[in-house]
Amino acid sequence: MELPPLTAAQTEAPYIRVPNPQTLFHHRAARFRQLALSQASLVGYLNLMADLADSLHHLSARFSPALLPDSCAGRPPLDISSWRRDPAWRDALRSIVEDLSSGGGPLGSVRDRLKQATDEQLESWADDLLAADFDRLDVGLAPFVAAALQVNWTVLASRLDAGKIGATEAGHLCPVCGSLPVASVLQTGGAVQGLRYLVCDLCATEWNRPRIHCINCGSSKEVAYFGLEGTGEAVQAEACGQCKTYVKLVNREKEPQVDPFADDLATLALDVLMAEEGYQRLGFNPLLIPGG
Ligand SMILES: [Zn+2]
Ligand SMILES: [Zn+2]
Repeated sequence: MELPPLTAAQTEAPYIRVPNPQTLFHHRAARFRQLALSQASLVGYLNLMADLADSLHHLSARFSPALLPDSCAGRPPLDISSWRRDPAWRDALRSIVEDLSSGGGPLGSVRDRLKQATDEQLESWADDLLAADFDRLDVGLAPFVAAALQVNWTVLASRLDAGKIGATEAGHLCPVCGSLPVASVLQTGGAVQGLRYLVCDLCATEWNRPRIHCINCGSSKEVAYFGLEGTGEAVQAEACGQCKTYVKLVNREKEPQVDPFADDLATLALDVLMAEEGYQRLGFNPLLIPGG
């Protein structure tokens, strides 16, 4: 489903913006490559993530979900804790594995292990990832399992009627799948100009939350912004002094090309800074599992 065009004539901004898989992964790949040009220490990693996003772009065009939720009433329609996964996600993963380079080294080992995994193993890894059970996760395999799940959930989310989906009780959880945000985006253009949307780390749905309020506890009393010196204000950490959590805010006004997943991974130094300052991150980027 295409996102409806947003024009200044619209008086009400949407609460939810479902993703558009036709453009989402393509833009993400381009942003990873752009960021790789200025990040010498991360160039190999960011280019690998760009290739992975390319794979997801091609897969999203081919993926035709057999299962769609019956109703959106009352709870997230694609809830990670109860939605029965379409087995096609495993085909997506195997296709991603085929796209990985044929060389040896650490990536070759990841490829071989994913190739040899049984359906039961893959499902068990997916369960661990969706439950954020980091102790049981293999950090080397996790980004690829996460990517396959992302393409599955993103295409499903894109088919939903955003107008029928309500907010979750916990406003920091995705109204479509109940997962945590990877980051938040300050939007530009039309009815969403200047509004802040959280971006789901799994299905890429965006949902509106007020600016300068803590996403975790709702307080606006001690919200502060942290950034990396010399990198501008395209990516900042919005931190709450009350509950000591933070979430990154990527700013389309400062840099129109920002992508929450790519810009997050390119600013890992900001996470190090926030840990030093005593703040804990709300959520995680499934393309980089903590400890990985
Ligand atoms: Zn979601
Ligand atoms: Zn807070």
